[in-house]
Amino acid sequence: MNRGTMNVEGVEVSTEHWIGGERIASDQVFDDASPIDGAIIAHVARGGRREIDRAVAAAKAGFHAWGRTPPQERARVLHAIGAGIERRLPELAAVETRDAGPLLRSMQRSVVPRAAHNFHHFADHLAALEVPDFETRGHRNHVRWEPSGVVALITPWNAPLMLATWKIAPALASGAAVVLKPAEWSPLTASLLADITHEAGLPPGVFNVVQGLGEEAGAALVRHPDVDRISFTGSTQTARAIAAAAARNLTPLSFELGGKSPFLVFDDADLDRAVTHAVGQYDHAGQVCLAATRLLVHRRVYDAFLTRFLERARALRQGDPRDPATDIGPQIAREHVARIDRFVQTAIGRGARVALGGGPNEELGGLYYRPTLFVDVPGGAEILQEEVFGPVLTLQAFDDEDEAIALANGTRYGLAAAIFTQSRARAERVSERIVAGTIWVNCFFVRDLRAPFGGARQSGVGREGGNWSFDFYADVKNVCTAP
Ligand code: NAD
Repeated sequence: MNRGTMNVEGVEVSTEHWIGGERIASDQVFDDASPIDGAIIAHVARGGRREIDRAVAAAKAGFHAWGRTPPQERARVLHAIGAGIERRLPELAAVETRDAGPLLRSMQRSVVPRAAHNFHHFADHLAALEVPDFETRGHRNHVRWEPSGVVALITPWNAPLMLATWKIAPALASGAAVVLKPAEWSPLTASLLADITHEAGLPPGVFNVVQGLGEEAGAALVRHPDVDRISFTGSTQTARAIAAAAARNLTPLSFELGGKSPFLVFDDADLDRAVTHAVGQYDHAGQVCLAATRLLVHRRVYDAFLTRFLERARALRQGDPRDPATDIGPQIAREHVARIDRFVQTAIGRGARVALGGGPNEELGGLYYRPTLFVDVPGGAEILQEEVFGPVLTLQAFDDEDEAIALANGTRYGLAAAIFTQSRARAERVSERIVAGTIWVNCFFVRDLRAPFGGARQSGVGREGGNWSFDFYADVKNVCTAP
């Protein structure tokens, strides 16, 4: 039985569930290990069907009042949650770095502020929602976004706070109540977030956290008949299981899934800028869904690109993510390192040539994988098709725009793409032909919360962000009134 809290990096973190405004224990626990050194940092409540039933019932009860709370008041509470995140920035950053391994300085500078911004943004967006109003033969049509009910959120381990808040904020803004099942490899900041929502005055039951494993708590949540929406970020494989469960109740779902995004460098590109962003694909040890891991470079600039890339990539410092000098931290878990290494060894077996890295960084222990680059990869190799979710890139040359586009579109994914060219006309042409939810031209990872976000093909179902989030989390209704 787990009870109470653990001290993580000097911060008291509850390891229990948060249900109906109370901390609830479970009979069983699971161990939470830190990717930095593999140390067990918490024994976390392992919820199952019982806890999910209780949380969904609490959310249903919480929804009654929250769904009727005026939008201005909902927005006020959301801003208070955003302010609470800002106030507790040092704690959230320290705990998530210990729990999931991102660089501490990235947590402090960008991730935690962005988590707060998620709440501020969707609070403001709610106030600014444009209500379409139009006439049909004298009849007035008035569109409304009505609160929908109980929203189930399931999130992955790679960016736990950011990805959870990106869903929680619009769901709460729309008037829904939430049950969050965080990833079992990085469960802790969700627990701190529960405290913050409580301190901000969010009524009991409107936000609930059930900790546990995907096959247990996660599976029980997505098949629950009282869940009105499922928003899931994670792997394409898990999405299939969730879609099958959701089909039983026809629960509307939104999926943000894996990727194998292309990174195109044309011969007129600003090569320094392209190389900077290409090396940036190793950020967070490659554990980023959007990572553009397939470098496609025009043959005329291939050698120059490769030389500069290797120079820059060899200078990256790998180590403890709490050290300000570190550029690349650990992988999330030993199992994940083994998975990455299987991909790398298979690629080597297929004849791909290792230009950089190619194995774990033994000096740092078993959790750090060396930034790796493959060249001369035979067409059709698995490493060109499957998401590795580690610091592993491939480099291929192309001769013209058509070939670049064919290579870029040559996987079952379609999450994002990056294009480097100085020609505006080419950027437009190529953007039009690449299948992806987000395309960055001469930049990478610039995100505006008003923009739609999601994946084409097997990288996702639906879009979130801006009005798209409200379209998903709310019940959209048209009221047509006679003159
Ligand atoms: P995962 O699919 O293994 O797990 C994600 C979540 O689903 C976890 O909370 C897990 O407990 C839960 N889960 C597992 N099985 C379940 C089941 N049967 N029913 C319900 N829930 C279940 O993914 P992961 O390894 O945690 O994350 C990495 C993946 O996430 C990568 O593929 C990555 O590309 C993707 N991702 C996508 C985005 C995006 O925005 N598109 C963002 C981040 C990560």
